[in-house]
Amino acid sequence: MSAAQSTPDTVVAEDEVAGICQALIRIDTTNYGNNEGAGERKAAEYVAELIHEVGLEATVLESAQGRANVVTRIEGTDKSLPALIVHGHLDVVPAFKEEWSVDPFGAEIKDGMIWGRGAVDMKDMDAMILAVMRQMQRTGTRPRRDLVFAFFADEEAGGDYGARWMVEHHPELFEGATEAISEVGGFSATIDGKRAYLLQTAEKGIAWLKLTANGRAGHGSQINEANAVTRLAAAITRIGEHDWPISYTDTTRAFLEGVSGMTGIEFTEDNPQVLLNELGNVARFVGATLQNTANPTVLSAGYKHNVIPGSAEALLDVRTLPGQHEAVMETLRALAGPDVELSSLHLDRALEVPFAGGLVDSMVAALNREDPEAVVLPYMLSGGTDNKSLSRLGITGYGFAPLRLPAELDFTGMFHGVDERVPVDSLKFGTRVLRDLLTTY
Ligand SMILES: [Zn+2]
Repeated sequence: MSAAQSTPDTVVAEDEVAGICQALIRIDTTNYGNNEGAGERKAAEYVAELIHEVGLEATVLESAQGRANVVTRIEGTDKSLPALIVHGHLDVVPAFKEEWSVDPFGAEIKDGMIWGRGAVDMKDMDAMILAVMRQMQRTGTRPRRDLVFAFFADEEAGGDYGARWMVEHHPELFEGATEAISEVGGFSATIDGKRAYLLQTAEKGIAWLKLTANGRAGHGSQINEANAVTRLAAAITRIGEHDWPISYTDTTRAFLEGVSGMTGIEFTEDNPQVLLNELGNVARFVGATLQNTANPTVLSAGYKHNVIPGSAEALLDVRTLPGQHEAVMETLRALAGPDVELSSLHLDRALEVPFAGGLVDSMVAALNREDPEAVVLPYMLSGGTDNKSLSRLGITGYGFAPLRLPAELDFTGMFHGVDERVPVDSLKFGTRVLRDLLTTY
């Protein structure tokens, strides 16, 4: 971990961003969701070392053995301005070596790209944040407002050992902050031959639910009109086949209007598919943001071939549009029917923030200075980020990890996918945009 030591003062962020990204990928921080992985401690120590080396204090906080978070702050020149949080997560989802064409923790550079787990989600952005912070600190560049830099554990399992824990146990570290930027936004997608940068202004909510059907246990040879398995099967069929209506929010409407503007194809509310067809690979990424979804994912019932069990269970992965959680729950209860109970195992809120205001203007301007042809569109993420946890402190979060990408790269398909890779030139571009933003906003 000594790559950072004795770095000369003349080094700028673009010079070291790729090396930091590689070093982070080589530290395996796999999150299996059950606290059994290696944890983020080693990566957190490396991050703290990079922070210390340029003369800043780093606070390293363990939420559990090996689960470490790092926070530091650069003081701004104008104390009247609220602070901005720039955050990333250090954990990654598992990678199975045999599925990859390279070592997922090797971080080799091939075809001008860094390959490895986390190259897209999100050690790329972690490296950009660190490189920019280090250059600012080395050159004595003070931001206007306080910048809080946070590197969280456990994002990939909901943040119980990461952002959620930090917000509950150490809210003082985020004091004075009203806004945040982080992952899954700011990257380019090519639409009708033009580059659109998708700035994330909304996230769907998460409801992981359990369905429990109760019935009358009995012998498998008898007539049983209260069979829990049959009841459960009927309920999950109704839920799984339910046709959730298309429902627009400010974000998805503005996104499709933007695509319409780029392509010259009219946006008709009852047939968004015409516009989605113009998006190529990105269509899969944003398609689920036009409606609620409820997918049955796990089934369990019974223990012997000739015994009718008294109960049967299924798990549902439900993703809700902003403001629609209660309505979705009501629909699900009706679909489940009177003999099937619905309970919540994990809930997290949907977010939607305006595509307007000083921070949005600054992000758009920073992109336009590096890519004058850029069109910037708001979009909604069908998954979630640590911005959900920060929103508990009233902090408005955006997805802005800027990358100018080659048209042919299926970037959005690589989140949690195999052969994750990020072009080195894209990282350097993103570093310039992020430095521009952080030194001017
Ligand atoms: Zn991520």
